[in-house]
Amino acid sequence: DEHRECDVVIIGAGVAGLSAATRLREAGHEVVVLEARDRVGGRLWTREIDGAMLEIGGQWVSPDQSALLETIDALGLETFARYREGQNVYIADGGERVEFLGEQLPVPAETEAEMERLTVVLDELAAAMDPDAPWAHPQARELDTVSFEEWLEAQTDDALARRHISLFIAEAMLTKPAHAFSALQAVFMAASAGSFSNLVDSEFILDRRVVGGLQGVPLALAAALGDRVVLDAPVRRIDHGADGVTVVSDRGTVRGKRVIVAMPPNLFSRIDYQPPLPRRQHQLHQHLSLGLVIKVHAVYDRPFWRDKGLSGTAFSPYELVHEAYDNSNHEDEKGTLVGFVSDEHADEVFALSAEERKQRILTSLVHYFGDEAGEPIVYFESDWGTEEWTRGAYAASYDLGGLTRYGADQRTPVGPIHWACSDFAGHGFQHVDGGIRSGWAAAKDVIAALA
Ligand code: FAD
Repeated sequence: DEHRECDVVIIGAGVAGLSAATRLREAGHEVVVLEARDRVGGRLWTREIDGAMLEIGGQWVSPDQSALLETIDALGLETFARYREGQNVYIADGGERVEFLGEQLPVPAETEAEMERLTVVLDELAAAMDPDAPWAHPQARELDTVSFEEWLEAQTDDALARRHISLFIAEAMLTKPAHAFSALQAVFMAASAGSFSNLVDSEFILDRRVVGGLQGVPLALAAALGDRVVLDAPVRRIDHGADGVTVVSDRGTVRGKRVIVAMPPNLFSRIDYQPPLPRRQHQLHQHLSLGLVIKVHAVYDRPFWRDKGLSGTAFSPYELVHEAYDNSNHEDEKGTLVGFVSDEHADEVFALSAEERKQRILTSLVHYFGDEAGEPIVYFESDWGTEEWTRGAYAASYDLGGLTRYGADQRTPVGPIHWACSDFAGHGFQHVDGGIRSGWAAAKDVIAALA
């Protein structure tokens, strides 16, 4: 067993851990990053599947994500815009297929007006929130003790408007059913992207990608850290006290002054902390869980939908694939569609055989884009729920009431133990940008503590 010494041990080589490590190095502190997997990047992963380059984890970058944009720039990575020329597709309840332009879904005029009104309500609630302290919102408790679904029911009698507004936050973001998280959690999701209007605007939120894949960010950060990053090193135990930490992994022991746990919070309790964590953390960590979504890639000889004047963008709360986009790679003649199957819909199709699931998902793409969509040359489903070191997608959120009850303590260090992950971010919550911000914030706290 290897034994190493450093100033700060970092657990997890996702963007949060690697961003913290980079900042600590810049401040002159020696670090060791212990990563459970045989690769860096965590929820960012670019894979070659049957000759196609696919981003099976996070990939999109939006203009407000300044921490991520700054990092991309500093690493010299290039970005490109998502293809979005032409008509979008919407499928109504009952199966009617409608092509439309712009962001407003083609719903009846009364529903459109009601959705606009609800957007203003949600924008106002989000504007009154500091994304770094959602629990301090003037209506925090009131909003956190009602599910988003029930809150919407109290706002409007228009079931169609409710169904569409909830799609943007439930299926598309938290990847949990709208009865399973609070209205405060929904307002926080909006505030963390600047506003509800930003969040529902795919032009904004799904703006650009990194050439070669967003995993290029953690790969480049890790390359600069060299052999300070140790792979295949799941951490099993942290002994901590006034004199520092001893971190025990499958690749040996690292001794340091402080440790940053940069893992998804649903996995925190897999580590044996000695002495055990305080009551508050024991409780807090039990109230966070990851959502579930299947990200599906279908690759074709060429982007056939473009020839029909379609953008590749599609939405329907009534389809198995609730949203889809053109996900063709930069300067690649092949065409790629990406679709998403969320929460209880994912449960339902995971109960089927792989072949039946594929047929159900491709049938949904055919509804949007026509028969050609049913015959991809490469087909791949990202299944983060089976990944031992993640266990869901995209990220973690609190159960009803959890955000106000525990949120303010989520980043509070326990002695020499600090916490960082996109799931604990304010701006950029659940996104790569937030992961970087939370890594930087933890590094700042550690630098202050070591001074
Ligand atoms: P992770 O990336 O989860 O990193 C944690 C690391 O800790 C992992 O490498 C893990 O292996 C390691 N680890 C866990 N346990 C241990 C242990 N005991 N010992 C050692 N190491 C351990 N975000 C966007 O901004 N845009 C998107 O388009 C987008 N789409 C997404 C699509 C999918 C399918 C998924 C899954 C996520 C998406 N996200 C997106 C979210 C984004 O990828 C994550 O929020 C972000 O990458 C999380 O970074 P992190 O460092 O906080 O956590």
